[in-house]
This record gives sequence, structure tokens and C-alpha cells, in this order.
Amino acid sequence: MERAGYAQVIPPILEDIGVFHRVGEATDVVTKEMYDFVDKGDRHVALRPEHTASICRAYVQHRPATPFKVWYAGPNFRYEKPQRGRYRQFDQVGIEVLGVDDPDLDVEVIALGWEFLSSLGLKQVSLLINSLGESSERTDFISALNSYLESRRGALSQESISTLERNPLRVLDSKREQDQEVILGAPKIVDFLGNDSRRHFERVQAGLDVIRIPYTVEHRLVRGLDYYRQTTFEFSGGTLESAQNALGGGGRYDSLVEDLGGPATPGIGFAIGVDRTLLACDDESVFPIDKRVPEYFVIDTTGGSEALVVTTELRGSGFSVDRSFSGRSMKSQMKAADRSGAPYAIIIGSDEVVNEIVLLKSLRTDEPQEVVQRSALITRLREKKK
Ligand code: AMP
Repeated sequence: MERAGYAQVIPPILEDIGVFHRVGEATDVVTKEMYDFVDKGDRHVALRPEHTASICRAYVQHRPATPFKVWYAGPNFRYEKPQRGRYRQFDQVGIEVLGVDDPDLDVEVIALGWEFLSSLGLKQVSLLINSLGESSERTDFISALNSYLESRRGALSQESISTLERNPLRVLDSKREQDQEVILGAPKIVDFLGNDSRRHFERVQAGLDVIRIPYTVEHRLVRGLDYYRQTTFEFSGGTLESAQNALGGGGRYDSLVEDLGGPATPGIGFAIGVDRTLLACDDESVFPIDKRVPEYFVIDTTGGSEALVVTTELRGSGFSVDRSFSGRSMKSQMKAADRSGAPYAIIIGSDEVVNEIVLLKSLRTDEPQEVVQRSALITRLREKKK
């Protein structure tokens, strides 16, 4: 992200609750899932459920030059029913750009998310994209969708019927078998796009084509909130269960900055869930799980501070070193050294201290134990590393 000109922003974990209320009154995230409380100074605050609102708040407060390109990584909190891939504290990594409407930027943002996931080694990720057009186009679409869903009400699941009453767009999210036939026949938002929106969406697709990022236009990918517009996208993890298979998602939004008291400013961003991404990495075995093993284990039977001095010196010179504590016996320190997995032990007893030497003992092979001058220890270990 930094190679692409994005700077890190670290928003606070606690914000005034108004920051989230203004940007998401209609979302479950804000209405049902927020951890909010009144602090000792009678301020109504919330643990952030996401980063975008705080970034828009910071933009309004500090008015940086545009394009304002930032990345973030950190925990969010939502009062959800915990299950695999859905937790009450979870981490996201993401970016936001404020101040630019160019479809090339949509492509840049999508590409950064895509490259991030592929650079981890994930292969079973698909990119889904759609366009939500402008708000008047959405209004026409929603009204057509509503009439259609009402006309097919009898064929919908009980859950979708109640969703329909609250927000017809959300019915398209239903993964229930019973709803699928109705959803397949539903009107598509792309058919409601005006010329400008259509052109914007075509430019985004052409951009993804030229940089060879594969995508699928997914008509069901609509967002329930008024401030989303134009491009919307999702990275879907092929190994995850369908209810939790979104590794991340994002899109364009409008009016967040205005709602927080700033000037009209277009925005776009994505948030990738770190926890789910790690689940996908496990499923695809993309990370070798290597146990951290120290290079050296210091055994000190003198009861003095030799182990402290040697570990500090070696760590300061870039070696990974561990030791045991509490003046344990030689035998028990040797056991600890073995357990640590370190290939070598550095042994220091009273004789060694007197003679200003240490013993370098292999814990894995039969190579003979080596006597090393204390003053030449680091040089010797560096030689061994070569
Ligand atoms: P959202 O901010 O709701 O658009 O979510 C973006 C991404 O954050 C999702 O695709 C998930 O990977 C992740 N995410 C959202 N909510 C949770 C949660 N409760 N637990 C774990 N990951 C989550």
C-alpha cells in the first residue's frame, strides 16, 4: 500500500458515538452490534465497529490535501453471535481514498486488495463486482425490485419475507435454497444505470481487464445503504462456508464526509477481515507453520549474571537466543535446551568464567564440543552462520 502512495492512519479505538450514528443509522452494525457505553465524564462513546467512519471524521477535522490516500490495520468490535469466521473482536486491514471520482482509482483500490490476498499465496479467491449507480438510479431499481419481490412473496422463505419489509435489497443476500429461484429472476441494477454510471462501470471493468485481474459481475452484490454508489466489490474465499465467505469488500461512497460536517467528497475503500483471511490461509495451507526456534540456548550454572550478559550481547548482535531461569541444575537446563529446539547450547560454568571461555555444544549432531574464547564468541558465531 505504501508503494502505491498510501500512508498509515491509526484511528482511535474509542470514538464519540455520533461518528458512527451519523454514518450508519440503518445498518445492523450500528443499530444492533455496537459496543457503546457512557464513560466517567458522561460521554457516550463506542468501540469502533469499523474504520471508515473514523477516517472520514479525521478528514473533516484535519482537512488534508486530496487525494487523501490512507491504509489502516487494527481491531474492530461488533456484538455478534460468535462463530467460525465471525467474532466480537476481529481485525481488519484496509484502505480509503477521499477526494477522487476517477474509475481508474476504483481499479487501483480493487487491485491493491487483490494483490494483497494473492501475495499471501491464496488461490481460491474470487473477485465479485457490481455497480450501484447513483442514488436516483438506485431508487428506481429498488422500487422495481420491491414490486417484483412482492409479486413473488409466496415463493420466498419466511426470513426473506420479513427482510423484504425492512430492506428489499437485503433479500438478494439470502443464501437460502428456497429463495434462489426468485432471486435469479429479480431485476438487475445494471439495467437501471444511466449513461454516466454505465460508462464508469465499463471503465472499471476495462481497467481490471488490462491489468489481468479476473472478476465476475455479481448482480446480487448490492449494499443496503444510501451512501454507497457506483462500484462495489467483494473478495470471496472459496474454502469458507457461504455465510462467512466474504474475506473483504468495499466500494464507492458519497456523503459520509458531508454527514460528518465536511464538504461534498467522494470516497472509496475496502476492508479485508484478517481473521477470515487467516482461516482461508489455513484451509489452503499457504503458510508453513514453522515453530520459532532459537539459534542458541544459553546454559549458565554459575548462578551469576553471565547468562544475562551473553543473551543480551547475542540478541543485540542479531542472534535469536533463549535461556532458562531460576538457577536450575545443569541437567534440567540441558533438558530445556533440548526442548527449545535450538541446534546449539552455549554452556557457562564456573571454570569457563575463570578461564574466560564458553563451550559451544551441538544439541543435534555428534560434532565435538568447541571451546570458544568469551571475547571472540560473537565473531565465532558469525563465522558459523556464513
Ligand atoms: P464489513 O466491514 O462488514 O464490510 O466487513 C469486511 C470484512 O471484515 C468481512 O468480509 C470479514 O472478513 C470481516 N468481518 C466483518 N465482521 C466480522 C466479524 N464479526 N468477525 C470476523 N470478521 C469480520
